Amino acid sequence: MSKQLVLIGGGHAHMVTLANLHVFVEKGYGVTVIQPSEYHYYSGMGPGMLGGTYRPDDIRFATRRQVEAKGGRFVLGKAFRIDPDKQLVHVQKIVGGKEQKTEEEIPYDVLSCNAGSYVPQEMVRGDYDDIFTAKPIEALLTARERILELAATKKITIALVGSGPSAIELAGNIYQLCRRQGVTMPRVQLFAGRTFMSGRPAQVRRLTRTILERKGVEIIEAGYVREIESGRLLLENDRSYQADIIFPAVGVRPSPIFAVSGLPTGPDGGLLVDEYLRSTGYNNIFGGGDCISFAPQPLDKVGVYAVRQNGVLYNNLLACLDEKEPEKFSPGGTYLLIYNLGDGEGVLAKWFITFSGRLAFRIKDYIDRKFIRSFQNT
Ligand SMILES: Cc1cc2nc3c(=O)[nH]c(=O)nc-3n(C[C@H](O)[C@H](O)[C@H](O)COP(=O)(O)OP(=O)(O)OC[C@H]3O[C@@H](n4cnc5c(N)ncnc54)[C@H](O)[C@@H]3O)c2cc1C
Repeated sequence: MSKQLVLIGGGHAHMVTLANLHVFVEKGYGVTVIQPSEYHYYSGMGPGMLGGTYRPDDIRFATRRQVEAKGGRFVLGKAFRIDPDKQLVHVQKIVGGKEQKTEEEIPYDVLSCNAGSYVPQEMVRGDYDDIFTAKPIEALLTARERILELAATKKITIALVGSGPSAIELAGNIYQLCRRQGVTMPRVQLFAGRTFMSGRPAQVRRLTRTILERKGVEIIEAGYVREIESGRLLLENDRSYQADIIFPAVGVRPSPIFAVSGLPTGPDGGLLVDEYLRSTGYNNIFGGGDCISFAPQPLDKVGVYAVRQNGVLYNNLLACLDEKEPEKFSPGGTYLLIYNLGDGEGVLAKWFITFSGRLAFRIKDYIDRKFIRSFQNT
């Protein structure tokens, strides 16, 4: 049997590998891509999709079509365990939109993991309705429908828990959504812990706060949320708040499959990789994006790093199959940060430059559209 390359997830760090899948196939290697959806959504444009700036088709890659057109095999399912000694990936298949009992063991010679991250839900109690997370990005489509359904009949309250990039972008875009669709404008409350956007530069915090408050977002800094249940939030100081829809947006954690599989992991549970984006325990396992823990230095969970890792990951997968030397990944310097706060406004920060307004959003929109178009039709 020919050597097998298996990709878990067709995320942001696998874009170049997927675009060049035919190169592996032409060399005689088998390629299998496992993903729980036929599409991969570009997260940077997710809040814009919620707000209606983009349609789902504008922000997604047709992973299945791309893989099959290039001679690879696409498996619709979730990898739930890796057996690094037997070189197998255990997959739970998805049929008719549901996870099935059907499992498959997929053998690999070289494995690359780009399974992303998830929003932890430990604070959510009991069975719940109308609680949505920003990941997977496609869940925002369901959230969008629900907001419109409820806001069509009454003034609703929407709570966002957290004040990182996803919470602030969702808050701003909820207003855009309701305004554009002509439903009753909701009350939007952002539970920011004790300090709004703590850890971010003062100027970025100030500009973001100004835009959100102008829209009507109530920024609550009365303490951290301790518990969430349907329709209710409880703070650490026992104060409670009611909300019709709640978005926990308290940061992300790497996919749990590495810890479950007994692979070496970093402090956050991500696949521990060296400067070659290669598992510190196994020379034939690689990874990129939010699911890795980069041993040389901690990296923020932002798409920018996943995108920067593309070329090195592709070259190193090919090198590993060809039994050649891998190349090193360098994370690069400061990255450009732009928040889309809805209604065509944004906040931009890089080095000593920080500004807000329409130009900031236009720059983000241009970069995001350019990136997605460059990979949508490969
Ligand atoms: C609302 C929001 C807005 C953001 N905006 C920005 C921004 O503007 N700029 C920026 O740099 N960063 C942004 N981020 C952060 C960015 O989303 C992440 O850093 C980025 O998504 C990481 O890419 P990834 O490919 O590693 O993971 P993901 O985008 O999560 O992709 C992982 C892929 O793996 C698949 N997968 C997951 N589990 C499995 C499994 N078990 N088996 C097989 N496949 C699996 C998923 O279906 C998905 O296709 C934002 C995040 C959010 C939530």
